[in-house]
Amino acid sequence: MASITSSPTADDRARLDVTFAALTDERGSVEPISAAEREARCRRLGRLLGAHGVDALLVEPGSTMRYLTGVEWGLSERLFALLVTADGVRRWVTPAFEASRAASVTAEAPGECVAWDEHEHPYAPLASALRAAGCARVAVDPWLRFRFVQGLRDAFGEAAVVLGEPVTTALRGVKDAHEIKLLRRANELTQRAISAVARTLEPGVTSTEIALRLTVAQERLGLTDVWHLALIGPAAAFPHGEERERTLGAGDLLLVDTGGKLHGYCSDNTRSWVVGAAPRPEVVRIWNVVRDAQRAAFDALRPGARACEADRAARRALERAGFSPGYEHFFHRVGHGIGLDGHEDPHLDGGSEAVLEPGMCFSDEPGIYLPGVLGLRIEDIVCVTEDGAEHFGEWQAGPESPEGE
Ligand code: ZN
Ligand code: ZN
Repeated sequence: MASITSSPTADDRARLDVTFAALTDERGSVEPISAAEREARCRRLGRLLGAHGVDALLVEPGSTMRYLTGVEWGLSERLFALLVTADGVRRWVTPAFEASRAASVTAEAPGECVAWDEHEHPYAPLASALRAAGCARVAVDPWLRFRFVQGLRDAFGEAAVVLGEPVTTALRGVKDAHEIKLLRRANELTQRAISAVARTLEPGVTSTEIALRLTVAQERLGLTDVWHLALIGPAAAFPHGEERERTLGAGDLLLVDTGGKLHGYCSDNTRSWVVGAAPRPEVVRIWNVVRDAQRAAFDALRPGARACEADRAARRALERAGFSPGYEHFFHRVGHGIGLDGHEDPHLDGGSEAVLEPGMCFSDEPGIYLPGVLGLRIEDIVCVTEDGAEHFGEWQAGPESPEGE
């Protein structure tokens, strides 16, 4: 689950910088991905293309382009794209009048320029470049806009342009050791920020103020692009929250779902706990049921297992405790892939036959939602290993606080 971002004012920041003075920038604790690593990713993509029976992948600006090259470029009505062929060679498709800017933006990941002029549109030049490179079939990134797909099909052949999802999922779905280190650290930092914020909370605080504290605490730790949900009491029964602000009362159940990015890699953690009083027995019971479902999903993760098994395991745990195994009380999938995108393929949903491999990272986030009463979710990021799965940071110990075991 992901939600809004908020920008603290200068006054908020000055005030909260004092509150969170103990949290300092941890960005230096893990190296960012290097140009040499991205070069190796292009070569790995080349091998995957061969294995999937296609000759090239075409990618518009976005996370797959960043993954392969580090290049950022704003989407516009004109096609700017990366083409990688099975030999791992890059080409940049760019409007001709943008060619010099493209050369400077792509300096760390250079490639031959396939320029197109305004009157000709990108398709004929792109089709010529593909033919010249000996390509018979080109895969397109799943996020490539359909108008460009259709234009390319008209110029290069309807059947010669295929959906690249199997290739991009194989490419980005399995994380290497460096990526796992980045994801682990990002999620440890978010958990640390949640704990630090929890220690400042008292009845009377608004959901907006909690969100500001989550933002500043994570930014002080070095995370960027911080987003948050801070849902009080029944508001948490809507998994993406509600618009109106609420004020924390003594004994209210608070659900915090938040994250940010460390060198581009995402965190995403949810903690549900009771503030200012001991949790009621019913809240303790439901928290334990959700925790059991989270562990059941975790235990289902191992190489060779299918993604749907984790979702099913969580639902069986809920059913054993008397809740619906369907979508009545737990109305979303148990988890999503995570990496450069907060939500990315493959996902842990009940219909996914994706076969798990070491290095795949997911959220594990069951919940129980009782409209008008409460919503309770616990979310951690986990990684499939050679013989099971590992968990980033600490499991939440209980509904009294977000602290780990
Ligand atoms: Zn989340
Ligand atoms: Zn999530």
